Amino acid sequence: MKTIRVGLGDRGYDILIAEGLLSGVGEDLKAKGFAKRYVVVSDTRVAELFGGRLMDSLAAAGVRADLITFPHGEASKHLGTVAGLASQLAALGVDRKDGLIALGGGVTGDITGFLAAVYMRGIPFVQIPTTLLAQVDSSVGGKTGVDIPEGKNLVGAFYQPLRVYIDSGVLHELPSDELLNGLAEVIKYSVIRDPDFFVSLREQRQAILARELSVLEEVIARCCSIKAEVVAADEREADLRRILNFGHTIGHAVEAASDYTLPHGMAVGIGMVAACGLAVGKGIMAKADADGVRELIADYGLPVAIPAGFAPQRLKGFLKTDKKTVGGRPFFVLPTKIGAVVITDDVDELLVERVLSGS
Ligand code: NAD
Ligand code: ZN
Repeated sequence: MKTIRVGLGDRGYDILIAEGLLSGVGEDLKAKGFAKRYVVVSDTRVAELFGGRLMDSLAAAGVRADLITFPHGEASKHLGTVAGLASQLAALGVDRKDGLIALGGGVTGDITGFLAAVYMRGIPFVQIPTTLLAQVDSSVGGKTGVDIPEGKNLVGAFYQPLRVYIDSGVLHELPSDELLNGLAEVIKYSVIRDPDFFVSLREQRQAILARELSVLEEVIARCCSIKAEVVAADEREADLRRILNFGHTIGHAVEAASDYTLPHGMAVGIGMVAACGLAVGKGIMAKADADGVRELIADYGLPVAIPAGFAPQRLKGFLKTDKKTVGGRPFFVLPTKIGAVVITDDVDELLVERVLSGS
């Protein structure tokens, strides 16, 4: 078992990583005593795959629990789902001493975390992330929330879980495109913070893609350590935490321009290569380093070029409306070398247009 601490003082918590951990959650929750009983919140697909194992573990430990579900997919990540789940909690008689367990991917984690933040003005919750993306990114750091028609993640709260249980074994069931989504974020961590990790991602590519669990656990632990360190230094994204948006400025524009048909990881792959293009154009990153990043992303099977037909002016429009834009100026996270980045809004418009047009 690997344990990583998210150092947030009295709101700090541990991330536990091990194969088969799902079956040990009941005993651990019993020992921790965070709540007198729990409601497991899951999407329909994950509930079918893993709900039984978790409920058995809770029952075996004598932990009282119910399971409630919502339809799987991003389309469920809206206030109506939160309202429906809150009504179910009320009908079950859930009070302030009870807790929630988020069992699923980032959609489940974001919905359940937000529900925990607002139900009775806040009840305890833990995360059991089951996609690679949720294991390395969304389950750690306390950002919760839902989408509204005007934009993704526009309604939410910072609300930290009390514990994160990562069972690597669940990744065997994950569809390949979902694995790739997570791997884009994994590559992101290496480029912003850890050159040795970048090298090992290159060397271990086959084992990672073949889902060798011991290797994946190392990868997950490394990513969680980096995210934990960044979040502990800047929980509410005033400064350092913004580096986690590497690849996401142009990535989000590409995602939006595709009407969200392009998976997030693919958009981030394209966005990371574009950010390196900006860095080289600005003269702060060596072309050889940028080529290295592009190669790694391509070797994992992620796209590296803005799809043909995505008009640069339209993409620029999305950059301006991005949530992270302040005063109409988008900010970019640009590498200076592999393992180090700067945050800047000082990027020439012509350079942005050149990179967006793929030249
Ligand atoms: P998701 O939760 O929709 O999961 C993807 C699909 O995989 C779903 O259909 C789900 O049912 C299925 N699934 C989950 N685990 C599985 C498994 N082990 N085996 C087989 N199928 C499985 O999507 P996601 O990619 O995990 O998360 C994306 C969401 O995360 C987005 O809404 C995004 O905004 C959010 N996010 C949040 C943060 C944060 O800091 N809170 C960070 C990054 C992303
Ligand atoms: Zn992302």
